[in-house]
Amino acid sequence: MFLRELTQAYEWAGRKDSAALAGLTRIGINSVAGLLCHYPRKMEDTTRIVPIKDFGISQICTDVQVIAHAWIGFGRMRTLKVLVEDNTGTAALVCFNRSFLKDKFVVGSRFRIWGKFHYKYGEIQSSDFDYETPEEAANSSGLLPIYPLTEGLKSPVLQRLVKHALEEYAASLDDELPQEIILRDGLLHKSRAIAAIHFPSSIPEFETARRTLIYEELFYLEVMIGMRALERRKNAALPPSTLPSSPSPSSPFSPLQQRLIERLPFDLTAGQITAAEEINQDMDGNYPMARLLQGDVGSGKTLVSFLAALRAVEPVPGGQAAIMAPTELLARQHAENAARLLEPLGIRLCFLTGNVKAAGRAILLKRLSEGEIDIVVGTHALFSKDVIYKNLRLVVIDEQHRFGVTQRSLIMSKGKNPNLLMMSATPIPRTLALTVFGDMDVSVIRDMPPGRKPVKTHLAKESNEKKVYDFVRKELAAGRQAYFVYPLIGDNEVQNVKDLKDAVSMTERLSREIFPNYKTALIHSKIDEEEKQRIMNGFRKGEINILAATSVVEVGVDVPNASCMVIEHAERFGLSSLHQLRGRVGRGQDQSYCFLIYSDQNIPSDLFGKKPEELSEEDRTKEGKRLMVMLENSDGFIIAEKDLIFRGPGQITGTEQSGYISLGIADPVNDAAELERARTDVFAILETDPGFLLSGHQCIAETLKRAPHFSSAGL
Ligand code: ADP
Ligand code: MG
Repeated sequence: MFLRELTQAYEWAGRKDSAALAGLTRIGINSVAGLLCHYPRKMEDTTRIVPIKDFGISQICTDVQVIAHAWIGFGRMRTLKVLVEDNTGTAALVCFNRSFLKDKFVVGSRFRIWGKFHYKYGEIQSSDFDYETPEEAANSSGLLPIYPLTEGLKSPVLQRLVKHALEEYAASLDDELPQEIILRDGLLHKSRAIAAIHFPSSIPEFETARRTLIYEELFYLEVMIGMRALERRKNAALPPSTLPSSPSPSSPFSPLQQRLIERLPFDLTAGQITAAEEINQDMDGNYPMARLLQGDVGSGKTLVSFLAALRAVEPVPGGQAAIMAPTELLARQHAENAARLLEPLGIRLCFLTGNVKAAGRAILLKRLSEGEIDIVVGTHALFSKDVIYKNLRLVVIDEQHRFGVTQRSLIMSKGKNPNLLMMSATPIPRTLALTVFGDMDVSVIRDMPPGRKPVKTHLAKESNEKKVYDFVRKELAAGRQAYFVYPLIGDNEVQNVKDLKDAVSMTERLSREIFPNYKTALIHSKIDEEEKQRIMNGFRKGEINILAATSVVEVGVDVPNASCMVIEHAERFGLSSLHQLRGRVGRGQDQSYCFLIYSDQNIPSDLFGKKPEELSEEDRTKEGKRLMVMLENSDGFIIAEKDLIFRGPGQITGTEQSGYISLGIADPVNDAAELERARTDVFAILETDPGFLLSGHQCIAETLKRAPHFSSAGL
């Protein structure tokens, strides 16, 4: 039905232009509602005249006369150039793929033009401009919606479609926000907001419409989150059990936990103690824990999860704990640590991944289901269909950002309301913590184990790589070890990428040419697990000096003697990967180094020793800025915030980072204040009226019934 309505609206627009319809479909618009919710990016004020001579300050918006045409290039590559003037100067309009404008911009005719202009090739020019005829300018409100467009979909077509849809439907839109809030915050009613976001009567009205729709979107996001949190508490009574009392009554830790702590060669950090106490409180509570443990790379989260696991095992009757890591490499490392630290306490451990096969696996599963295993460490294989737990009381998910959130419910179904501890070394900015993890409690470890020195970071151009190799050679000579990380496994992996170093061929070069006196080994995701294990053991023992790798070493790997992390083509890695990779060094007492080598073609000048404010226009590519962030910051929380800002709200959504939420108009970073307000409002409502029965809240119940108008992919 929606599609039919749209087609009607579309025919009204008077065009049989299938490209436009295809364009709409491509951006996911297949209903009138979708069309109305395709909000403009911004509103252009075409009444505020900025003459050509002021092109440097902002956008030009001025009335001009066409004075001449010219052509750049030849044949099919020919590009039209239109020279125009107002009474302050002349400018050139470069019409890429718009040669048809030749007939429109007749010499002598007048237009209103606007767009960004630059001084280039001796003239003021723009290739990104828009225009209206004087008649159009006289008839318009002076405000022009700028839509995020797609190929084949031009702004005027879209505007006509939206106008028609508004005339037909806008009046019948019901408010989705409680009146009380609309009044309190001076927001618009829904029908007015939708009309004004597309065709406002003034810029302030547009802003209010935006504010309304942003708030509304965040409000319903928090409604979803809040309802989910309530749900979790409601249907989750935990089976009773008793915890043996602690030998020293003043200690917040249970006997087994106490014994583990006493066995450690170091003291817990304050952050670890607090996190462990918070977890203990949760696990002794009336409903299951759902806690996110955040702590920068190297802050010692693994140990906290072991303490939590003991708390699950120790009560009578005893429970089981499952610790899940995203890669086999990391799972194995955890299993080895657990064996070292927990087995001496009498804990029965096992290790389970997809690679544990046949007979061994059958025995293991039997022991798990009969409760003869206390703690199991592994990959997502821990939650395959055939794995049955006797009494799963705690699930730990390490490096949670590596797992899709959809897996969460599968995991939880393995036990009777098990406690959940998610751990993240990619710190989640507060705004995201309020959204994606909004129904969870959060513990943060802010301190690092004592004695760690911050990693010294250097940027180096590819052409200066020799200096980096020389430096690393000195470190190797002093008995230290190094990682070299590449964006590709082999040179046949990606076509059309020239001059890109890959792990396979560089392993050759590193061992033959660059460091012939040292042992280099290669590790990447396609190497089989036994081999990986052999290599990691060799590296851990110091028999291998250099590990050439892809970003498989990004998470978890813990070899304190490694002091150098060299990342080649660093500009190709995302900020969170870079931060994770750098976190592989600086884990011991000695000074460690991270070298970010970048290709000259992506960032033209030498960034080495530069401050961000010294970046030239050309250096300010996304890549250039990312590397500067790495140079200037070591705090993972700040890096994660910057990462969000660089990637923009669109990127937070959906795809690559499974589990993030797609929002339409709101941006959890920029609209953080709105987000907090929406959260407070929603949680206050849920507190008193969780069923939305009061008359002021019925609009919420109605809206939820009509189907949520945003996609909550990650929830
Ligand atoms: P992450 O939080 O990144 O998972 P890990 O749990 O891998 O960090 O810990 C990093 C390293 O720090 C490990 O070698 C671990 O043994 C060590 N460690 C953990 N806690 C402490 C502490 N309180 N004091 C000193 N070293 C610690
Ligand atoms: Mg870890």
